[in-house]
Amino acid sequence: MTSKEEELKKRKTYLQIAGTACSNCRKTSAEVGINSLLRCTRCRMSVYCSKECQKKDFSFHKQFCAAIEELHRLEEAWYSCNDKESEWSKRNIYHMQLLSEALDRELTNYERNAWLHQPKCHVCFRTSRDLQNYSPLIPCSECKVAFCCSPEHWKQYRPKHQSLCQTYQLMVNCERIRFVSDYIDSTPLSLITIRIDRYQDTSETLWAPEEWDESAIYPPLPKDWNGYFKWRKNSQFIHLDALCGVITNNLSLPLTILSALERFYIRSKLRSLEDLIIHIIGASQYEILALMTFEEIMHVLPNIKTLRIIFVGLELPMKNPGMTLQCCPRCANSDRKRICAFYPMPYHEYGSSSDYTIPHISVGFNTGLYEDDTELWKPTIEFLLEKELPCVFTSYSKEEATQDLKILKSWGAKILVGAKENKWRSTMPLIEPQGTDKFYYNNFYRTLLQGHV
Ligand SMILES: [Zn+2]
Ligand SMILES: [Zn+2]
Ligand SMILES: [Zn+2]
Ligand SMILES: [Zn+2]
Ligand SMILES: [Zn+2]
Repeated sequence: MTSKEEELKKRKTYLQIAGTACSNCRKTSAEVGINSLLRCTRCRMSVYCSKECQKKDFSFHKQFCAAIEELHRLEEAWYSCNDKESEWSKRNIYHMQLLSEALDRELTNYERNAWLHQPKCHVCFRTSRDLQNYSPLIPCSECKVAFCCSPEHWKQYRPKHQSLCQTYQLMVNCERIRFVSDYIDSTPLSLITIRIDRYQDTSETLWAPEEWDESAIYPPLPKDWNGYFKWRKNSQFIHLDALCGVITNNLSLPLTILSALERFYIRSKLRSLEDLIIHIIGASQYEILALMTFEEIMHVLPNIKTLRIIFVGLELPMKNPGMTLQCCPRCANSDRKRICAFYPMPYHEYGSSSDYTIPHISVGFNTGLYEDDTELWKPTIEFLLEKELPCVFTSYSKEEATQDLKILKSWGAKILVGAKENKWRSTMPLIEPQGTDKFYYNNFYRTLLQGHV
């Protein structure tokens, strides 16, 4: 197996984690044409469509499986959570410690997610292990990823679930699209439709002809995603919610930048801009996986000759002061360039280095600066305010945006737009591992600021 395949195998879908799809091939029982999937008799967590799939998954599964089996045997670890979500949450953390001890290492991302998202009754928080003889939980017949332990508890939970079932289904369908191909994550808009059809055997970059409505002059941007897709002559999937979710999850990055630029610069200036520099602060895997998508900026601002994007953040793998990325044929033919650089360090540190260049805009996606590393963010924000750089920050939810805004204000930032819904947010629901029925979206809210009050 190639390392790329290995990497893909580790990305289990929510359907797989919920025990609704084969842990190996991702097919559901309906897709395989059987009544129910086979459950691993040791961990009682992973499910398979066939003995063959179980065999193929074994090398990946065996360590975690053994650790779970050990945990199941530990009677005292399965104390009652007294129908309380907070207790269930605490017990999960305790379980993960025990699993980590059994494995003699930290849990992988997959293992942590699998444990936190394992099926539980949405009313009493019992898992199948808490029921007599590991009786299976009852799934929602529509989304198949929400559970209750009994018909009585379904009766109780149903009214709440009614309003969420659609979101669960959308999440599952988005995953279906994302997990058929790993590189759909990293494509500009025009490539996506092609790749959907051709994902199976291609690994080279396929560039589709860039198309847009030449009669319309941008900026300004259209008023919403549907308007945008129409302008880019890609309106065929407007009604496919899941496809839109996957696409907007990436396109949200360049479009959030573009809409912020519109707030900081007059249109004639943006239209004539030839060299655009963008700093992305606290960059993580989300931005890196979507690297190709940033070319969208060049398609909206067609006078740009060189687009430079500097990624700065502690999660970046290695320093690279500049590499030229491939552009689509249309851009390549007109000699346009896209350059990326990576600095794995805090932004203020990059700011004091000799490589520093003044950007047109600084961006922080899903910063959550109120939550983690607030003290590390402080000198970065002070640097941005001192230099009076135009900044846009986004958040997963209104609560986070409001918290971030409070901190930014307390540090003296002059706020132009404070914790407002971002119309260029991702529409792909993501589910919070630590909660129940809690969804969030990339770049849901945004805050614009520049300089001191
Ligand atoms: Zn299978
Ligand atoms: Zn197992
Ligand atoms: Zn229950
Ligand atoms: Zn449902
Ligand atoms: Zn292009």
